[in-house]
Amino acid sequence: MRLELGNGKLLEVVQGDITREATDAIVNAANSSLLGGGGVDGAIHRAGGRSILEECQRIRQTRHPGGLPTGQAVATAAGRLPARYVIHTVGPVWRGGGSREAELLASAYRESIRVAEELGLSSLAFPAISTGAYGFPAEPAAEIALRTAADELRQAQHLRLIKLVVFDAAALNIYRQELERFSRSEKIERTDRSIKNEN
Ligand code: ADP
Repeated sequence: MRLELGNGKLLEVVQGDITREATDAIVNAANSSLLGGGGVDGAIHRAGGRSILEECQRIRQTRHPGGLPTGQAVATAAGRLPARYVIHTVGPVWRGGGSREAELLASAYRESIRVAEELGLSSLAFPAISTGAYGFPAEPAAEIALRTAADELRQAQHLRLIKLVVFDAAALNIYRQELERFSRSEKIERTDRSIKNEN
């Protein structure tokens, strides 16, 4: 599944294991300690090796002694992974929806993309941040992922490809529905714009 955004920019949704992605960077759904955890975080550290954890520890000591705040992102090298960098971001824990979770989730995507742009990268892969142990409901999380990635990719200087990598078939289905809904609403916006331009 893919959405062509113009200017050769592509937003893609695939099912798979993000540790195998050979994009310039993959994003880690880390926790604020940056010292590893379960889910995708555990998989990235297992597959990438100790050097990623050591670099995370150095970042903790020097730049983020209190831990990486929710919604922010930092980059490390990627050890043995096929990607060149891992961008570690902290998504929000779902607390019912009234604790700025949506805004913080969008920020985790946006800040990861900002870090990738600073590094001049052309491709980036995301997992479905916050939808595992952190309990963010899958549908709104997919909508935020798609909208934020599409908006930021359109404005990006270097990035050409963003891949949203989901782990299982159920998540893929949800992304498919959200992608269809999203491209329909985009078409409506485009039509509105051209009608306005004609007047
Ligand atoms: P969080 O703590 O942010 O919720 P998790 O790692 O628990 O992060 O889960 C985030 C999402 O990543 C979940 O949807 C989970 O199914 C998925 N996931 C777990 N392992 C992988 C992997 N190796 N590749 C891609 N996605 C994964």
